[in-house]
Amino acid sequence: QIQRALRSLCIPLDRLHIMKGHMMQDMCKGLSRQTHAQAKVRMLPTYICSTPNGTEKGNFLVVELCQSQVRTLLVTLYGDGNMSPQMVYKIFDMPEGIRQGEGEALFDFIAHCVSRFLSDTTTPNTQSSEECLPLGFVFPFTCRQTQLDKAELLSWSKGFSCSGVVGKDVVQMLQSAINKQEVGSNGTDGRWLSPWRGWKSSQSAPGQLSHVEVVALMNDTVGTMMTCCTEGKPCEIAMVADKGSNCCFMAEAYLVETAEETSGRMCVNTEWGSFGDDGTLNDIFTPYDESVDEESCNPGEKRFEKLVGTLYLGEIVRHALIALTAEKAVFTGTDIAVLKEKGVLTIQHILDIINNEDGTTDVKRVLEVLGLQPSERDCGRVQQICRAVVGRAATLHAVGLAAILSYMCQTRDMETLMVNVGVDGELYKGYKRFGEILQSVSRLLSPECMATLLPSKDGSGRGAAMVTAVALRLAALRRAVDEVLGPLRLTRPDLEKVQALMRQEMERGLGKHTNATASVRMLPTYVSHTPDGSERGDFLALDLGGTNFRVLVVRVTGEGISMASEIYVIPSAIMQGTGEALFDHIVDCIMDFQTKQNLMTHTLPLGFTFSFPCQQVGLDKALLLTWTKGFTASGCVGQDVVQLLREAAQRKQHSGLKVVALLNDTVGTMMSCGYDDPKCEIGLIVGTGTNACYMEEMRNVGTVEGDEGRMCINMEWGAFGDNGCLDHIFTHFDRVVDESTINPGKQRFEKLISGMYLGEIVRQILLVMTERQLLFQGRASAKLQTKNIFQTKFLSTIEVSNGLALRQIRSIVNELELEASFEDCVLLREVCQTVSLRAAQLCAAGLAAVVEKIRENRSLNQLSISVGVDGTLYKLHPCFSQNLQMTLKELAPNCDVSFHLSEDGSGKGAALVAAVASR
Ligand code: ADP
Ligand code: MG
Repeated sequence: QIQRALRSLCIPLDRLHIMKGHMMQDMCKGLSRQTHAQAKVRMLPTYICSTPNGTEKGNFLVVELCQSQVRTLLVTLYGDGNMSPQMVYKIFDMPEGIRQGEGEALFDFIAHCVSRFLSDTTTPNTQSSEECLPLGFVFPFTCRQTQLDKAELLSWSKGFSCSGVVGKDVVQMLQSAINKQEVGSNGTDGRWLSPWRGWKSSQSAPGQLSHVEVVALMNDTVGTMMTCCTEGKPCEIAMVADKGSNCCFMAEAYLVETAEETSGRMCVNTEWGSFGDDGTLNDIFTPYDESVDEESCNPGEKRFEKLVGTLYLGEIVRHALIALTAEKAVFTGTDIAVLKEKGVLTIQHILDIINNEDGTTDVKRVLEVLGLQPSERDCGRVQQICRAVVGRAATLHAVGLAAILSYMCQTRDMETLMVNVGVDGELYKGYKRFGEILQSVSRLLSPECMATLLPSKDGSGRGAAMVTAVALRLAALRRAVDEVLGPLRLTRPDLEKVQALMRQEMERGLGKHTNATASVRMLPTYVSHTPDGSERGDFLALDLGGTNFRVLVVRVTGEGISMASEIYVIPSAIMQGTGEALFDHIVDCIMDFQTKQNLMTHTLPLGFTFSFPCQQVGLDKALLLTWTKGFTASGCVGQDVVQLLREAAQRKQHSGLKVVALLNDTVGTMMSCGYDDPKCEIGLIVGTGTNACYMEEMRNVGTVEGDEGRMCINMEWGAFGDNGCLDHIFTHFDRVVDESTINPGKQRFEKLISGMYLGEIVRQILLVMTERQLLFQGRASAKLQTKNIFQTKFLSTIEVSNGLALRQIRSIVNELELEASFEDCVLLREVCQTVSLRAAQLCAAGLAAVVEKIRENRSLNQLSISVGVDGTLYKLHPCFSQNLQMTLKELAPNCDVSFHLSEDGSGKGAALVAAVASR
């Protein structure tokens, strides 16, 4: 029988694995918004989003509500890695009956303890009387927390049942009680208050608490975690193995769906004592566990806690002994009536029995004191049972720990996890083998994780001071960060203003007389129709001015468009040589291509995508206004580009070249998307630079004769703001970036939006934040000081949706030779998000002006239109397109705008412009 009993208390390894899996599932359930309400493992958010980093300093007050005491503690931190905090504490016994009395009385008593403590405590006179004294409140009951300083009590436990507290914000209740103390101190009631000394010697009012502010509320488990944090060794899990059992850990904040916080990490209070309340643990319960549960005040609840909490271990042993006595396996022939009484076997008895390594003399003594008459054999067997029960409790703690370890490892996207675990509680301290079992079993169950146990030295009090200190440090950091990033955050009115200004500049660009001074040039393109699908034929196309120079042959049929292309290099000697050499080279490439494609004998119409600003005077006549993107070929500016190409063909005696159209890449993009969607009447580029085109009514185009029909307008919106109209939104960072470019003062709108500049803006912000000690511990690497070292594609990597791509961020940070903490990574991401969000919003404001103008042109209440888009930033950034579309919806609610990615817009578009022209 003994062997059977021992076996039933011993859980096989495969079963432990299954339990760990269940625990992980339940944790996910508790964190998910949908399933949170039914979850047994509650996974309560604590709003504690960081662990101490050692820079915390100042005085912090803690008040801890315990079973029958109130503990007050004053901790002074010196910003020295929290190595030597100074602590003063005092313990107050709670008056009888207060636990079942009125809530108000309980909080008044707590406030009174605070007041007494402060008046008895002399502290460093560095404390100025105006400074607020922050207070952390340790309140070990189940609360629904919605902020660090806002927590609604869900239910009392541990013998507390004060009236009028459940459902109320306990932080508020404590703060009111504290404020009341102050009033009392000024009035006649001085009974509880001693004269004020020390801290505020300049003030004579006794027991003044007006400077005490409750800034954080936490559970004891969380306090333990914080206590165990020492410099360079963050502690991210804490376990309290005591009367009850609980555990908390730092989870990725975005996974804590019940809290709004999404960046960084947040400490989650698992409340794992209720694990198994849905039946998950039924197959490991022994008849003894069932008896304990039935006799408890909350049968069916807290099933895990009842297997592992010290409140229950004695009871489990007691029921086992009763059963085994009935089976005549122990205490044969003696009276065990004493065992019938609930609670006679305490955890202390059990620990005394099992900690006696050699022999059974202590066992005998303990049992005899209880009034039993054990034989030698009974002593051995009782000891075995006790060891099995307590060993099982340690093993089950290890299962829970393993679940948390694996969960953390998985959600942090790591192959291995090293983590420190703070441990406290009667069982941990009293049972010698607890730590050893915890470590070895969790290692078996989660071999990918390595947990280091840190015993908590000062209980939860010091930790509570840390939480409070961290909260204040974070609040200060937040204020400083907001100050830096504030100017980059655009409000709805800001964006509306940009939209209105864009609209104004568009009108000026279109006006015959205002065009010359408008910052948005609004260049006519002589493209007057978008494709209607009836286009047919074979075309040649050239694409110059994007990332590559290409020659293409494009076949447009009833079935769709097919093409072949070749990329040609333009050596920089040619880019920066003479115009003749450049265009000779282009014709050579065309001839090479035609030879390869067997097209030498065909004369195909040619469309030329030429992505530089041109003053177009006809579809096949365009004067180059200026070179950009590294081109400087001489003798071209002011010339007709098509003519330059034709002359080169003549020089090369290539007679089969028929250039019918020259177009900008925005137009090509619009046309290629227009082939599939007739509603596509806008083209947008967000790549190295940014630009847009759209179909305008001829009657509005003052710079071209004629009022009939429409014409595509190449806005050249990158230059928006070059006349100073956007000066109010430029930040310090934008000015620095602009000044370091080859064209300061030019393309000001583009410099807020496009790929060539976003990385550089981020870099400037990082430099300022580092200088202000907000990042990288104030140390910027030499690399970070290098221009253009921070590439725009880094923004895409860093901002990747859902969670923190920590590994990728780390590799970028390493590449830049920076030392980044986890919090640095979170802040780095916030900087990137701010910059890319602003870019997308500004782009949306520009587009809003365009779609609203089109809607008004056509006198529609509602416009339905499509935009063809190209550009790597738009295509590859994880949030740019979404932010752009969302903002556009807000700014132009009467326009229903859809976006199509253009595929090879320059090539296809050139052919289609040629085709539409021939049609
Ligand atoms: P172009 O505008 O010259 O035709 P692209 O459309 O390819 O060229 O855009 C190039 C720009 O895209 C570069 O400025 C680069 O910084 C940016 N870029 C490249 N990769 C990414 C990425 N993954 N995420 C965001 N931007 C990127
Ligand atoms: Mg391009």
